Amino acid sequence: MTPILHITPPAQWLPVSAEPLIIAGPCSAESEQQVMETAFGLADIPQVKVFRAGIWKPRTRPGAFEGVGISGLKWLQRVKKETGLLVSVEVANPRHVKEALDHGIDILWIGARTVVNPFAVQEIGEAIGSLNIPVMIKNPLNPDLKTWIGAIERLNQMGLEKLMAVHRGFSFFNRSPYRNAPMWEIPIELKRLYPNLPVMVDPSHICGNREMIPATIQKAFDLEMNGLMIEVHHNPSKALTDKNQQITPVQLQEILARLILRRESGSIEFENKLEELRSEIDKLDEELIDILARRMKVVEDIGTYKKTNKITILQLKRWNQLINERIEAGEKMGLSREFILKLMQTLHEEGIQRQIDVMNQKT
Ligand code: PEP
Ligand code: MN
Repeated sequence: MTPILHITPPAQWLPVSAEPLIIAGPCSAESEQQVMETAFGLADIPQVKVFRAGIWKPRTRPGAFEGVGISGLKWLQRVKKETGLLVSVEVANPRHVKEALDHGIDILWIGARTVVNPFAVQEIGEAIGSLNIPVMIKNPLNPDLKTWIGAIERLNQMGLEKLMAVHRGFSFFNRSPYRNAPMWEIPIELKRLYPNLPVMVDPSHICGNREMIPATIQKAFDLEMNGLMIEVHHNPSKALTDKNQQITPVQLQEILARLILRRESGSIEFENKLEELRSEIDKLDEELIDILARRMKVVEDIGTYKKTNKITILQLKRWNQLINERIEAGEKMGLSREFILKLMQTLHEEGIQRQIDVMNQKT
């Protein structure tokens, strides 16, 4: 059963109205000058309401720049005072939480490496205690919705209700143009399960490069995500961390100006046409499910036949030939190679399982 989350929407705790909510700032706070220059650039963009900067940086290998530590918190206080932006930092342990709260940080976030560890999440929640300050929970590195939900639920059950999820993509062993594959189906499922939980998108860590950022932002809003957490640096080429994915404040402003925010619902004619197309989809899906059920039945019959004749389940030659034929047929119908491959693999996996079940059945 899906547990209920008690979420206070940002509209109730943000001192400013922000829809969508845009959080921007450098990957890392590097110097007072870098922080201030970036913050002043961002404060000129009306849609930006919250400044972000990493003070304690989780690095894959030791020896890389690990953040400026608490001295950066003073710079963030200055940002807050001089620009009016709210300020946010990443926390990974109770000491970070205490320092951040002592310096008047408005919003905390838990990073992808910390969120996988229930002990760490618990300790962070305990350190926040009854303060109920806003916390953003990034998705774990691996595509595991349950872990992501678990961390959100854990904090929520500790009384934290000003929660937002941040989708930052997932590490993925296949080659992909993204640094972290977006796997949009995962944040979409999160939204389906918890419609009242705001889901922000971090296009910087998804893309890993500047070029793909505008299209990823557009996609995020087309999928009704609630805002952005984006890395912005006044001089990205000199950034000490994540330099390829940071953009300048001016570039962010241009991207936001070009963004098309589609409305969730339109005119009556539009709604009618949409309804018509949707019922066509419903009908097709019904047929698809019927076909899938029939296909599985045939697969089971083959399993029974193989069992009677003592033949192995997996027959690679047949499988390779089938895949190639389906890909070719799909391409003729305008369906991509990757799509057909994924589809056939899913069908094959289920088919093999069905045949294993048949083999194991006592006759
Ligand atoms: C970050 O936002 O700077 C960061 C380290 O992100 P993530 O935890 O998503 O890797
Ligand atoms: Mn970063």
